Amino acid sequence: MIKTRFAPSPTGALHLGGARTALFNWLYARNQKGKFVLRMEDTDKERSTQESVDEILESLKWLGLDIDEGPYYQSERTEVYKEKVEKLLADGKAYRCYCTKEELDAARQAMQKAGKKPMYNRKCRDKDGDQSKPHVIRFKMPIEGGTVFHDTLRGDVKTKNEELDDLIIRRTDGNVTYNLVVVVDDAEMGITDIVRGDYHIANTPKQLNLYKALGYSPPNFTHVSLILGNNKKRLSKRDGSGSVLSLRNKGFLPSAVVNMLARLGWGYGDEEVFTVDGLIGKFSLRNLTLSPAVFNDEKLAWLNVQHIKLMDNEKLAEAAMPFVKAKHQNATREDMLKLIPMLKERSRTLVELASGTDFFFAESVVFDEKAKAKFITKETKPALKEAIKLIEELGVTDSEKLNEAFKASAEKLSIKMKAMAQPVRVALTGKTVSPGIFEMMSALGKEESLKRIGMASSL
Ligand code: GLU
Repeated sequence: MIKTRFAPSPTGALHLGGARTALFNWLYARNQKGKFVLRMEDTDKERSTQESVDEILESLKWLGLDIDEGPYYQSERTEVYKEKVEKLLADGKAYRCYCTKEELDAARQAMQKAGKKPMYNRKCRDKDGDQSKPHVIRFKMPIEGGTVFHDTLRGDVKTKNEELDDLIIRRTDGNVTYNLVVVVDDAEMGITDIVRGDYHIANTPKQLNLYKALGYSPPNFTHVSLILGNNKKRLSKRDGSGSVLSLRNKGFLPSAVVNMLARLGWGYGDEEVFTVDGLIGKFSLRNLTLSPAVFNDEKLAWLNVQHIKLMDNEKLAEAAMPFVKAKHQNATREDMLKLIPMLKERSRTLVELASGTDFFFAESVVFDEKAKAKFITKETKPALKEAIKLIEELGVTDSEKLNEAFKASAEKLSIKMKAMAQPVRVALTGKTVSPGIFEMMSALGKEESLKRIGMASSL
């Protein structure tokens, strides 16, 4: 059984890079009917915060990336790691290093001078010391030969062992370090496949040697390429993209964000629009691309429009509700079901959709001054009066019939349909841009429509 994991360090919000890593792991697990594990890598006590943990959990939930196991917290597993460090020491695969900072600096400088890659000179590797003195514990990397791992996208990646440092696995303060704990956890949790950012490639040979030393068999590795911003530089937290929750707050649908993230470094022919189920069915690690992916806000905006159109009205009403409620507390589901059909096709985000409902919930129409000056005038009064007459006669429920009647009246008054419709639009909403006037009137009802047009015509 395939088992993947997402292993964020909770030191900030979940941004697009992390979210994409989570998504690829989740999609692969779901495609293979495997399991998806969440593990908080919170060993850095200074930088890890509960706030970040909560935000990561909320972001994953919003994206719909449900977890099968966890969240595990590394901060709760120190006993396991301690035991493994002791085992490595007992097996002669790790050693205590008593070098002071000054000694390390001097050795490093000497190496640099000699034109060598600066690394620890292995001074304490085969020596006993006084254990009561401050010391770190280092892992004995092999010196001869090389380490090879197979990356799904890159094939065999080889490293000369002499280039691998005897890395510190436990610090002087007793805290264990990333490369050790990640190996222990991935092995103990039965992770079969690791998908992560390619900035971890340099860690993988180190980790492989730890797998070997601890008697574990290693998982499969897939390193995905960077995400670049619109400026072709590495996507940073400062880019427009922001965190997952900031996209939620801007009114993007989770399905659109998932679609956008999936397309950052994964493709399936020319297809652009994918539902979550479609992605699960089509996803494979082989179709990840090696070249960096470029994030583009226009593409996300476009995908959001597509996903709004794809969503059924009930679900869309539900998704839009928090945005509408923030502006119009008393809004109900019934109101939303009336409004969604006319707003669905014209809203790029849920924020826009919520603004589109303003006309409906307005206690009284607030006029845009320019709109009023242009369309609520002496000249437009006959059109408004005629509209009132038609609505009184025909009601507002049959939009098509009312539309035909408006056209006939426009002809009778020798004006264009637009000259008939625009004053009505301004009377109903205070603005020159809005959904269709007949749809709006049908949602507002006869009485309210007459009230608003009557009010405007008496100005
Ligand atoms: N906690 C690591 C990070 O956030 C993940 C390491 C890994 O995936 O192996 O970069």
